[in-house]
Amino acid sequence: MDFRLSEDERIFRDNVAEFCRKVIAPKWIEIDEQGRIEPELLRRMGEMGLLGLTLSEEYGGQEGRFLEAAIAGEELAYHAPALSLAVLYLIECSWPYIVQRYGQEEAKSEVLPHICRGEAALGIASTEAHGGSNVAGVLLRAERRDDGKWVLSGEKSMVSLPTVIDSLPWGGGWFLISRSGDPALQHKTITCFVALMKRAGVRDERITYQPWTEFARRGLDTSVIRFNGVEVDDRYRVGEVNGGFKIAMEGFNLARSMIGAVCVGCARWLLEQGIEWMKNRRVFGKPIAAYQGINFKLADFWKELEAARLLCYKAAWVADRYYRERDPTVKLGDVAKISAAAKLKCAGLAVDIGEEVMKWFGGAAYFKETPIFRAWLAAFSYVVGAEGTENIMRYIIAREVLGREFVE
Ligand SMILES: Cc1cc2nc3c(=O)[nH]c(=O)nc-3n(C[C@H](O)[C@H](O)[C@H](O)COP(=O)(O)OP(=O)(O)OC[C@H]3O[C@@H](n4cnc5c(N)ncnc54)[C@H](O)[C@@H]3O)c2cc1C
Repeated sequence: MDFRLSEDERIFRDNVAEFCRKVIAPKWIEIDEQGRIEPELLRRMGEMGLLGLTLSEEYGGQEGRFLEAAIAGEELAYHAPALSLAVLYLIECSWPYIVQRYGQEEAKSEVLPHICRGEAALGIASTEAHGGSNVAGVLLRAERRDDGKWVLSGEKSMVSLPTVIDSLPWGGGWFLISRSGDPALQHKTITCFVALMKRAGVRDERITYQPWTEFARRGLDTSVIRFNGVEVDDRYRVGEVNGGFKIAMEGFNLARSMIGAVCVGCARWLLEQGIEWMKNRRVFGKPIAAYQGINFKLADFWKELEAARLLCYKAAWVADRYYRERDPTVKLGDVAKISAAAKLKCAGLAVDIGEEVMKWFGGAAYFKETPIFRAWLAAFSYVVGAEGTENIMRYIIAREVLGREFVE
């Protein structure tokens, strides 16, 4: 076993870090403060090959492995720790990949190249107001008409990206999880679509949204979205009719392994802020780094961060073995289990490190001028819910470890 990255991976990481240092790091606080990502920045990320990184060259992607995507995700988060750009990036590494895998050719060749160029974005629309954890319980209706088209009606809540999509020249929409039959049949009547709110620069006015006010990662808005009888051609259906649940779960798995890496980047930034501060802040005649009450905590967090990064790399590597190498010894359940573990571990760790570093900063941490809170609260989004709560991660791990006969 070799813990070093390969030469190619190191070069890739260094190039991404250099891009982030020059292009992204100078803007991260402004993005968070203004609650807006400039489309030009996404165009540059696209030019750099960061959007649609995991997609095939046929659609303008880089054919990147999930391990490379994790490496880049860590760098993006480290250089812009309020996470808006890193979150957008990881969404575009995950959900468009599922569309590429299960979607129909016409829709893929229409939408995916725009994502790779940063001209469009594809988010995930799953959560509904009655409870996001139970994806098999969604109620937004997809009704098939006699002419073969679908009509989408209903509401999703807490869905990220609408204003970003609205601002982009081509547009985009969401990987939409909808109900296409009897709700009592739960996961057996779920059908998924690429639901476009803006297509080729033209806005579908039957999709409306109402943004919530976020504490952090404010470059992305998270909104209630209404689908008011939205007509969708069958070519935008992803996967089989009533067969969408499993593929939606695959999308969450991929996103979660990337979330782990993004939270590692955020945690690394937070810890480095704390280290610089403790070396320079002198209280009672010494740097506070000299006090065991402080440096023992640092040692614990350093240890945890090393372990967290290895878990993320392993989660990405397992995904690569399943999706890229088609290794028959790796099962989908293995991808689900380790990606849930990566998200659970890394998001919680970033939050814990953030909270501790805030304490090292003393009273200064409480003011906006000290930007630690931006990273801490951004990571907190992944503890409370985004792409699944902590308990849902535990549920997935327990189910895969114990078997479905014990955990249904
Ligand atoms: C910043 C942010 C961005 C988001 N972006 C998106 C997005 O782009 N698209 C999207 O679809 N959603 C998005 N979400 C929503 C997110 O996916 C949901 O918050 C999440 O799935 C949890 O759903 P909920 O908030 O309705 O909580 P609930 O499902 O109501 O859960 C409430 C609590 O009950 C616990 N719980 C539920 N069931 C069980 C159980 N069986 N066992 C033990 N505990 C349980 C949960 O862990 C949680 O603590 C976003 C959320 C946030 C915070």
